[in-house]
Amino acid sequence: MRIDVVTLFPEFLAAFFAHSIIGRAQAAGRVRFRTVNPRDFTTNKHGHIDDTPYGGGAGMLMQAEPVCAAVESVVPVRNEGTRIILLSPTGKPFSQEKAAELAGYEQLVLICGHYEGIDQRVEDLLVDEVISVGDYVLTGGELPAMVVADATVRLLPGVLGAEVSAWEDSFSGHLLEFPQYTKPAVVRGLAVPEVLLSGHHANIAAWRRAQSLRLTWERRPELLERAQLTPAERAQVEEWEAER
Ligand code: SAM
Repeated sequence: MRIDVVTLFPEFLAAFFAHSIIGRAQAAGRVRFRTVNPRDFTTNKHGHIDDTPYGGGAGMLMQAEPVCAAVESVVPVRNEGTRIILLSPTGKPFSQEKAAELAGYEQLVLICGHYEGIDQRVEDLLVDEVISVGDYVLTGGELPAMVVADATVRLLPGVLGAEVSAWEDSFSGHLLEFPQYTKPAVVRGLAVPEVLLSGHHANIAAWRRAQSLRLTWERRPELLERAQLTPAERAQVEEWEAER
């Protein structure tokens, strides 16, 4: 996969590209990151890229033309393998499902806004979809671009050590992940749940499933509507509801 990030602050992404699992994925050739700076496509001699909004209002907007030119420099010809994404609080919420969908593309182009955002015509002319990383407003699209890239790249084949682990994470099957423990067995008087030391795989799996169900019900009950639960698990959820 190739990921091109359209950003006024390429240095902001450099550390993300270089380190840990993402850095190793790039070194192994599973993903290729590049940044492209719209400022390099301005035509005025000062390299200004922002201007005031038509109709008035606070702040400045990034102009459409340099952003379009930056995108077109990395997507000279449109094709189905490329997805052009604008990061914006006005977008549809990002999710694990969306990350899995994006992992199927050959190229992602992630457009980062700054100031009060980007002239609407970039979206109208070039963008396939608009993604938000949450119901809050950040100063720029760089963190959202890293969120989208990170969640997507770790789903690419061979990026995580054991491929199965990504599919055991929270949100797979619309359940949150069960609590996990590592050595030592006792930390400040708190012991690891007995069952995890038992070596009994079926009991461990049942305990983990029950923990996932309980945690999801407590923290994100809306996820359970789409989770595939057994009749016994549905009954358990109803019992918890009744107790509440
Ligand atoms: N005026 C815009 C609004 O109210 O929707 C907010 C602009 S924000 C200060 C600047 C840029 O940060 C946006 O163009 C976008 O690229 C990025 N951004 C901020 N919050 C975001 C979020 N929750 N999801 C995705 N991108 C976001």
